[in-house]
Order: sequence, then C-alpha cells, then structure tokens
Amino acid sequence: MPRKEILKTTRRLTEPFIVTKGKDFRLKDFDPTDTRGLIDKGEAAQLLERGVQWLAEEQDMLYAQDRWSVLLVFQAMDAAGKDSTIKHVMSGINPQGCHVSSFKVPSKEELEHDFLWRYIKRLPERGCIGIFNRSYYEEVLVVRVHQDILARQMLPPELVSERIWDERLTEIANFESYLTLQGTVVLKFFLYVSKEEQKKRFLARLDRPDKHWKFSASDVHERQYWNDYMAAFEETIRATASKRAPWFVVPADNKWFTRLVVAAAIVEAVERLDLHYPKVDAQKKAGLAAARNALMQEKEKAAPRARTKKA
Ligand code: AMP
Ligand code: MG
Repeated sequence: MPRKEILKTTRRLTEPFIVTKGKDFRLKDFDPTDTRGLIDKGEAAQLLERGVQWLAEEQDMLYAQDRWSVLLVFQAMDAAGKDSTIKHVMSGINPQGCHVSSFKVPSKEELEHDFLWRYIKRLPERGCIGIFNRSYYEEVLVVRVHQDILARQMLPPELVSERIWDERLTEIANFESYLTLQGTVVLKFFLYVSKEEQKKRFLARLDRPDKHWKFSASDVHERQYWNDYMAAFEETIRATASKRAPWFVVPADNKWFTRLVVAAAIVEAVERLDLHYPKVDAQKKAGLAAARNALMQEKEKAAPRARTKKA
C-alpha cells in the first residue's frame, strides 16, 4: 500500500483521539461508545489485518536498523480490553524484537527504589518494541486514588506534600521527553471504557468459567472510586500529553474499534520513522561476493573412512 494512502487511512482513525496538548483536554469531550460512524465490522477486521501485516514488515526493518525503539504504554480501568488489544494488534510481530511487561503491585525490592526504577529496567532496547501493560502512570493513578499506597513507598516524610502529584507528573513528562530524544518513540493509550460497559464485562466474566481467573472481587470494589480515577486520568493526560509523546484516548466500549485505533496509531508513528534496511557499502558487498564464491567452490569432503583394525 503506498505511503500516502496508509497515512490517509490511519489519520482518519487517529485524529479524533490523539492528544498532543494537554491544556484544553477534557475527558467529557470523548465518548467511550464512539466508532466514528464505522459500523462494518468486516471492513474493520480487514483493515486491522492489513495494519497488523504492515506492522510486521516495519518491525523487521526496525530491528535490522537497530536505532529507534518503540514504547507502547497501555492504561485503563479493569476490563477495558488492554490484554486483548495487545494480543490482537501485536499478533504478527516477531517475538524476538518485542517484549511485554505487565506491572502489578510493586514488590518489596521495587519499593526500596525511586518510583521509575522498575519501569526503566523494562524499557525497550534499540530496534525493539516494548509494551507496558500498566506503567509508571499507575504512580499518579492508583497511588493517587488510594493514598495508603503512597504511605508504603518509603519516601522521606519531608518530601511528601500535596505537591507530590504535580511533581510526579512533571517528572514523568520530563522522563518521556528524555526518552524520545534518545530515539524511543513513546505512544500512550488510555482505553476509555464506560462504567456501564465495565459492569457488563464483569458480569460476562462471572458467567464464563474460563474467565473466572480474570475476575477479582477487588475490581468490583474499585468501581466506587470511578470518579476519582477519571479525575486522575484527566489530570494525568493534561500534564503529560505532548507532540513528542502523545496520548490516545481510545473509545473502548467496542473492542473491534479499540483495536483498530490502536493499530492505526502505531502504524502511523512507525511509518513516520521512514524505516529502511541498513545500506550495504562497497566493502560489505565485496565481502558478500567473496562469501558466495567460497560457498560455491566448497568441495564436499569425503567422510574419513573408518580404519579397519588389523586382526
Ligand atoms: P491486573 O493488571 O488487573 O492484573 O492488576 C494489577 C494490579 O496492580 C492492579 O490492581 C493495579 O492497580 C496494581 N498496580 C499496578 N501498579 C501499581 C503501583 N505502582 N502501585 C500499586 N498498585 C499497582
Ligand atoms: Mg485486573
């Protein structure tokens, strides 16, 4: 597919949801049920398949070139579809150049360090795609909503004030700016599911024995903090959206649409890198020709005959 056409298709899907300037951002301007008038799921599936295929080809060049890396950050309320989006969008990707990190409640060792420590350890190396299923953003989301978690973070008390959230948000924005200037493409996805749809999905999980492992009673308990979470998400996006490290507020009540927008955003960002295979210089070309010659002239050596023992 020609470059121009790819960009036209992806832009149609990403433009309504990308946030590059936080100042005027309001969550109420976004709708979890939005599908941009797209209703043909068959067409959506076809588009997704093309995007996934295209991404696989680009990843091969990303890896060969060994210069850029890509960090994809996924944040959402429970049951918004992070896991399944990651699974679908990355389905064509070579596992050799891709790593998914899922961040849970921090361990004792992790709490002994600054809050970015455990995330920095999982950043993608050059040529690779790193996926953060939850991320350092939890430090201004769940930790902000449940401040008893902050109390367990072992910070010197004189460094903890009501300014801590603004400080963390600034530190995160600076950290991402640093990463992008080091050659990491940073894309952040907030899968925006509605409270009603979450309830439906929880009930569906309860109906399906194969989904019971995903269900936790505390997830239901968290619903009473819904508005606090939404306020924290809004402030987070306002403080950390930038041209270099944009947020995508992806409608998540329809999983097929979520996947399509996420795939389009990744395709668009990677396409902008204008990747190509490393150029082979004259010296390397001569080496390749010599190697071919050597291989062609190689004679099958006869297998050494087993010595027969004299009686
Ligand atoms: P899940 O991703 O559904 O398996 O759940 C992971 C759990 O870990 C969620 O309840 C998160 O809120 C929690 N979690 C992730 N990161 C942090 C963090 N930095 N501090 C405290 N809890 C966290
Ligand atoms: Mg969970």
